[in-house]
Amino acid sequence: MKNKPPKTENPATRPPIVVVMGHIDHGKSTLLDYIRNTAVAAKEAGGITQHIGAYEAEIEHDGPPALPTGQAGGETGQKRKITFLDTPGHEAFSKMRTRGATVADIAILVVAADDGVQPQTIEAYNTIKEAGLPYIVAINKIDKTGADAEKVKAQLGENGIYVEGYGGTVPFAKISAKTGEGVPELLEVALILADMENLQADAKQNASGIVIESNMDSQRGISSTLLIKNGTLKKGMFVLAGKALAPVRILENFLGRPVEEASFSSPVRITGFSELPAVGDEFKTYVDKNEAEEALSQVKEKTPSQTKDSKQNIKETEITIKMIIKTDTAGSLEALEKELMKLKDEETAIDLLKGGVGNINEDDARFSSALNKTVILGFNVGTDPSAKEIIDRNGVPTFTSDIIYKISDWLKEEITKRKAEIPREEIIGVAKILKTFSRQKNKQVIGGKVVSGKIVEGKAFKIKRRDVEIGEGKIINLQQGKKEAKEVSPDDEFGAMTENKIEIARDDEIIIIGK
Ligand code: GDP
Repeated sequence: MKNKPPKTENPATRPPIVVVMGHIDHGKSTLLDYIRNTAVAAKEAGGITQHIGAYEAEIEHDGPPALPTGQAGGETGQKRKITFLDTPGHEAFSKMRTRGATVADIAILVVAADDGVQPQTIEAYNTIKEAGLPYIVAINKIDKTGADAEKVKAQLGENGIYVEGYGGTVPFAKISAKTGEGVPELLEVALILADMENLQADAKQNASGIVIESNMDSQRGISSTLLIKNGTLKKGMFVLAGKALAPVRILENFLGRPVEEASFSSPVRITGFSELPAVGDEFKTYVDKNEAEEALSQVKEKTPSQTKDSKQNIKETEITIKMIIKTDTAGSLEALEKELMKLKDEETAIDLLKGGVGNINEDDARFSSALNKTVILGFNVGTDPSAKEIIDRNGVPTFTSDIIYKISDWLKEEITKRKAEIPREEIIGVAKILKTFSRQKNKQVIGGKVVSGKIVEGKAFKIKRRDVEIGEGKIINLQQGKKEAKEVSPDDEFGAMTENKIEIARDDEIIIIGK
């Protein structure tokens, strides 16, 4: 999704889409707020009632004309647009951050001058690098006593980020997101980087782009914020994102105002999807309804129901965590779910019974019982008193936090606890089969030698042939030197009657297991 110029006959310069990243509390939201308040005309900005995930700013551009094609026009005093992703500043929003990086054309890496490079600064940098985005370092909070921009530059260098004047070419701006100092220069550099990227799009094509927010509302239904990366979106068209289809009847711009059409780099909000579009999904638009439905049926064919797979997985795993997650927004729901699903492994299945937006309520609490031990996890939400009562009474495993990784850590611990509770198969001994005798139905007489541990009467075993497990069985009767034995020790030979569906052969190994 990087800045591949679309195959187009009507190229036009596309405004850059900028994402702001960095360590928590380094000032990302403050910077986004400052730009929103200063670069979106005051009367318009005041009209923003809800954040839809992105906004458009208009920047007074004073820079030199940078584009050889002249399209971007760098003439002094010209107004140019930049779209900002209003990415939630929350650090554990890995999906959001990745999403930000994929959708965006340019990144601003914010580093607080009084705190310096921090772990999430590096994480953000790695995301930027992976996405191959051009970026600017914003050394923020320069108004603060204790701010040391030079130290930050040195720290950046230690981490492989070489800014201008410090052995590298990465542009930087010293700013205060609070007072606004340096912010115009920062935006100026963003526009120059955009010019160097030569971002192009074609207004004559049908719109395409990326889903950046999705919400469900009991009154309005499902709406999504889409970021148009190419083409034009008009009322009357049809939008398809994954398997979610919507006729474009209610089309709003980032201010929540109804519009007839919108074009590239603009965020728009569309209401009336058939299902919740997944954040990060690409969308396409169609003029013709039949065409849109045809595309939808193709998507459905390509993605067979996943329930079958997940059931199979669950069967093979040892524990299944059933969970309910509640969050403050659809975006965070998705982010949290993705984070928690990472905890699946060969032994652990995670089954999301229910995910929703809002407080943990009585219904959620009733889902969990002593038997199913469903866990309830909340991100940035409260717990209704009636739910709390049930949770306390039934000892429902519940955890809420406003930090995703804490929730993920909690669940990790819960998984470890549950794993420790399951009885494990233990290898008691291994024997090599030297001879096989008669076999009737499932019963077989074998002769072998204990390699390690011991062979014990009555215990189950697994049959291995050339190191591959081929079946299992049980020792019915055990003899050593023609005498009945309860156990046989290493290096001793034995005879045994076993019960096994798969016939044991010479040179097989049997692994005695017990609990
Ligand atoms: P985020 O977590 O990166 O979004 O950080 P915020 O924007 O929430 O900022 C964290 C804190 O730093 C808030 O208390 C801001 O008011 C403060 N802050 C952000 N930028 C500046 C700045 O340039 N100067 C000063 N003095 N404080 C700032």
